[in-house]
Amino acid sequence: MPVKQKQKIAIVGAGLCGSVLAARLRTVFDVTVVEQARKKRPLYHEISCGDGGINSSINRAAGLGGTTNYWHNALIELADDELGDLGLDPARFAPYYRRAWSLFLSDSDLARCQAIRDTNAQALPPGRVAHMVVPQSRVNLWQHAQRAYPGEPVTVLYGHAERLTLGTNGAPEHVLVHTDAGPVKLRADHYILAAGGLASPVLLANSLGISEARFGGYHDHPMAYVAKLRLRPDSTLRELSCRDTVAGSVRSGFVYEADGLKTAFYLRPALSLRLGSITGEARYVLSDLRNDPVSPRKIIQLLTNIEALREALLFKTRAGFRGDYYSVLMLGEQRATDSRGIQVSAGRPPALNWQVSADERAAYQRCFTQFLAAMSSQIAASNVIPPDQWEYRTAAHHSGAARDFLAPADGSALGWFAVAGMPAVSVCDASLLRRGGVANSGLTLVALSHQLADALAAQST
Ligand SMILES: Cc1cc2nc3c(=O)[nH]c(=O)nc-3n(C[C@H](O)[C@H](O)[C@H](O)COP(=O)(O)OP(=O)(O)OC[C@H]3O[C@@H](n4cnc5c(N)ncnc54)[C@H](O)[C@@H]3O)c2cc1C
Repeated sequence: MPVKQKQKIAIVGAGLCGSVLAARLRTVFDVTVVEQARKKRPLYHEISCGDGGINSSINRAAGLGGTTNYWHNALIELADDELGDLGLDPARFAPYYRRAWSLFLSDSDLARCQAIRDTNAQALPPGRVAHMVVPQSRVNLWQHAQRAYPGEPVTVLYGHAERLTLGTNGAPEHVLVHTDAGPVKLRADHYILAAGGLASPVLLANSLGISEARFGGYHDHPMAYVAKLRLRPDSTLRELSCRDTVAGSVRSGFVYEADGLKTAFYLRPALSLRLGSITGEARYVLSDLRNDPVSPRKIIQLLTNIEALREALLFKTRAGFRGDYYSVLMLGEQRATDSRGIQVSAGRPPALNWQVSADERAAYQRCFTQFLAAMSSQIAASNVIPPDQWEYRTAAHHSGAARDFLAPADGSALGWFAVAGMPAVSVCDASLLRRGGVANSGLTLVALSHQLADALAAQST
């Protein structure tokens, strides 16, 4: 019997989604992944942006594994109402979350973490605890997914994908890739854009020949240190904030809502009520140095703020989670508005107007007031940074900016990822997410990658 030729799939971007998709799809399809960098490296300057630490700290990365080369590996699910707003039925999506968790934790480790989640959830009113798991070891998802889902080799084409060249019916004829050896026209039966929340919208604009436009719908999770606290000796917030298991640590954020926006507050070990370690550039010093270890500016910051370094070490080693002093880090939800998004302009790098609007600032502030009131019996003393001095920074969850390109939902699994007027093209990265709640997006993106992989595999049979 003649051997049936496998259909070809081209995936642009070998980051979190591209890695999972490539590894999952390789048994059914002939998979080629386009990745712009041979070695891991931070992407600092590919997008112009004046706000949010986007260009002064790492916000994305290139190389196999993409941004997972530098991520913190913190895993959290979206809440049911948020999934509903994304057009995903929580009950039908639950098996995909389950598969996403199982990429990081064994069944027994997951069960242990979920038991802690259930205990934590009972300590506060429903919906107040954001359950996050940080597995012991960080993983680069390219290598990790290749091991987890063995199969045929995946071809990697190193080069920068510029655009899809579209035929008369809107379907791509090829993806144009600039490689060291010159331009390559990569042809496939199906194309997946997984270049990340900032790059996929730009690729779509290039493909449609749009040289001047702004695409709205972008949102992130602005983060800011807002206070230091001294907890009462009998406070339960220590135990709730961090519990270690062999597999990793289980963290709780405390979630409040104002004006339809959620805000999560996380406690991080501190040495005192002094604010010097959580204000100014030193506040993320350890994380920044990990990403950029030879930066003289950052080394000087570190040496001039030893308290920030000591507190960062208390957090990393988790040794400080039984102490008395804590910093409060807030992570807020943003609305997907028309005015916040990616601007493309001929001859210039794409620009992002990352910003926290006045109504978002007001909502976060109201949430913090609720948090302080609800926790007052646990807090012995506090030192609050005035809200107009909260220094917001990107959480790099670059979400929602492909909104203007997506096809209206048609109820099919594949349709959820479809691009309007471009048959055989799917988008799979955070640019799809129209709502982000207070969840880091990684776990949801792994789950969505599984959903897309299943839908494509089902269609091919
Ligand atoms: C420092 C840091 C810590 C983080 N920690 C967490 C965390 O703890 N938990 C969590 O859930 N999330 C975290 N995130 C966010 C998470 O890493 C991202 O949400 C996730 O990696 C996004 O996956 P992606 O597949 O959309 O894109 P990416 O992982 O960014 O991958 C995109 C890939 O596409 C490639 N690419 C882009 N454009 C092109 C092109 N034109 N041609 C060819 N290749 C291209 C890039 O080089 C890259 O490899 C963190 C992010 C940062 C920056």
